[in-house]
Amino acid sequence: MDLQSPVTALPMVGPAYGRRLEKLGIKIINDLLHHIPHKYLDLSLTSPISRVQPGEMLTVKGKVVSMKNQYTRSGMKIQIAEVADSTGQITVVWFNQPYLIKNLYEGVRVALAGKVDWYGRKKAFISPEWEKITMGQKGIHTGGIIPVYPETAGISSKWLRRRIHDAYNLVKLQLSEFLPRETLKVNSLLNFDDAISKVHFPKNTSKTGVGLKRLAFNELLFLQMQSLKRKRQWQKNKVAAKLKVDSTSMNQFIEVLPFKLTASQEKAIGEILVDLKRDYPMNRLLEGDVGSGKTVVAATGAFLSFTNGYQTVFMVPTQILAQQHYETLKKLLQSFKVRIQLVTADMKVGDIGRTDIFIGTHALIHNKVGFDQVALVVIDEQHRFGVEQRAHLTKIVGGKKSAPHVLTMTATPIPRTIALTFYGDLDLSTLNEIPAGRQKITTWIVPPEKREGAYQWIKSQITSTKSQIFVVCPLIEESDKETLAAVKAATGHYEDLKKVFKDLNIGLLHGRMKVKEKNKVLGNFRSRRIDILVATPVVEVGIDVPNATIMVIEASERFGLAQLHQLRGRVGRGEKKSYCLLFSESKSPKAFSRLSAMTKTISGFELAEMDLRLRGPGEIFGVAQHGFPELKIAKWTDIELIKKARQVATCAFDNPTNFPDLFKKLSDMQKAAN
Ligand code: ADP
Ligand code: MG
Repeated sequence: MDLQSPVTALPMVGPAYGRRLEKLGIKIINDLLHHIPHKYLDLSLTSPISRVQPGEMLTVKGKVVSMKNQYTRSGMKIQIAEVADSTGQITVVWFNQPYLIKNLYEGVRVALAGKVDWYGRKKAFISPEWEKITMGQKGIHTGGIIPVYPETAGISSKWLRRRIHDAYNLVKLQLSEFLPRETLKVNSLLNFDDAISKVHFPKNTSKTGVGLKRLAFNELLFLQMQSLKRKRQWQKNKVAAKLKVDSTSMNQFIEVLPFKLTASQEKAIGEILVDLKRDYPMNRLLEGDVGSGKTVVAATGAFLSFTNGYQTVFMVPTQILAQQHYETLKKLLQSFKVRIQLVTADMKVGDIGRTDIFIGTHALIHNKVGFDQVALVVIDEQHRFGVEQRAHLTKIVGGKKSAPHVLTMTATPIPRTIALTFYGDLDLSTLNEIPAGRQKITTWIVPPEKREGAYQWIKSQITSTKSQIFVVCPLIEESDKETLAAVKAATGHYEDLKKVFKDLNIGLLHGRMKVKEKNKVLGNFRSRRIDILVATPVVEVGIDVPNATIMVIEASERFGLAQLHQLRGRVGRGEKKSYCLLFSESKSPKAFSRLSAMTKTISGFELAEMDLRLRGPGEIFGVAQHGFPELKIAKWTDIELIKKARQVATCAFDNPTNFPDLFKKLSDMQKAAN
């Protein structure tokens, strides 16, 4: 038996228990040893029975004097025992465990642990932990610091304690250290075996924390090791188009831009150009808040690919976004005779050869475009696709593995260290400033009694400043895809608003409309023929209409901060002052504090921090919706530990011979996972 053996290999764990354990995420022995107590009971105080006082948490030892099942009038079975030592006697009560009588009968020596209470007028233990006393064996449920585990139906902490105890003894020899002593010392880490035993069998509560820290470190370390390994594999033996940078044409491109690049845009472009000059494929993540100007950075890469005679592909999540990128890129590249093509369902294969830049949704691109001449792939706003997409992009060309350079873009503001952990296989560029000249966005929470007033204000804004307005309908359910219910809600709201704003032009946009219709509506909105655009929550990603200055979000409490931030990012893109109105009828204080966070800052990074505090460290800003792995032991808030783990992982890949056991462990784990 070893760490990778299924839990069902343990004594007393049959298939039924195996299935229950799976609900706790436990499949192999290693999982079981990493099932972490959510608290500890200090039952280390032992006392003669005569001295125990109600309210105390302690352990006593004695002999069963009597034990009986008793039926209450309501049909419940209670078990009542009397247990005595040389100093006195105490009553013990359990509920609905009639089988106890088979184990605990007159004369059995037993240890009891828990809180002393009253039962009627007698001092008693109510449902205490108990175990028979066996000569020469230390108890595991009484007389010490007792771990309490996350449980599930049919799996109690008591059961888990026994199994973890057994498992530990069976595989103890395989818990040998896999990190060099020096690494442990530098990072103040406990060795592995000690950590496991401090977490499950602590002698005192002060040491459980260091044990946990080591296990959390392991978790983070292996996450990073895996992504670094992916990174090496991606680069290994693969060729990519080695692009030449001609500074004259590059400068020309930058000069004709309608704005001056921000310092962080310049830096990101610099980093990308360095990658593109190499003969192995780039794999870079460009992270930047909504509106930070990621598109032009990607366009620079596309321009370089074009001047080297290669093609570029932009993959985007929606057709609307494809259309928009198409317009933007056409403008940015119009002086250079770059042939840009929107990939549509009815595009002809013959058009492909004569195109420099393709833009389309993932599905269409994969159906239509061959990648032989593609030097650069840009994946926008959907980095979850990154890993899977990359696998598809590898080709064998002339007997060699070849892959395009890949640039993934995201507006999810993940703190840098965390991004590096999640995406250790990606290099990271960050746009950490918003282009100058942007107006601040003022955000208000609008309760039901102020709705009328808000509508009046909107009317006056439209007349006085020619503003345009987004109205986003409530999120009906958490889903990437738009549901029929969401479409209905939007349509209904659209009809209502037509009545409220009789003299204005109202448009409707939702995912079930035909692409042509969508483009028509969006075109009308861009050209200001529509004043108010009512939309389902799916519009959140990427739409850029600088004259839209008011974002109204219905039932805003249903959205997460990450989504609200994305939605609000649709306004404040032009010269005019912008506003975000969060309509909400919710009276929940929690919802209110979340919405209040929106009124306090427009920085995605600050909101991410607040979200972290409001939701607790388990969930991170937008993490769930981006399909990131869930941490079992470590926390994403533990930046220091994340940094240490990253350092060790990088060091291990740079000097693998110093870390032989670590690499063996990594490959064992990966074998077990497959
Ligand atoms: P995002 O990072 O959200 O994808 P976009 O690339 O859509 O942002 O850019 C948002 C808006 O900012 C666009 O209208 C774009 O033209 C403009 N923009 C980009 N870079 C700059 C800059 N350096 N100065 C001024 N405006 C810029
Ligand atoms: Mg964008």
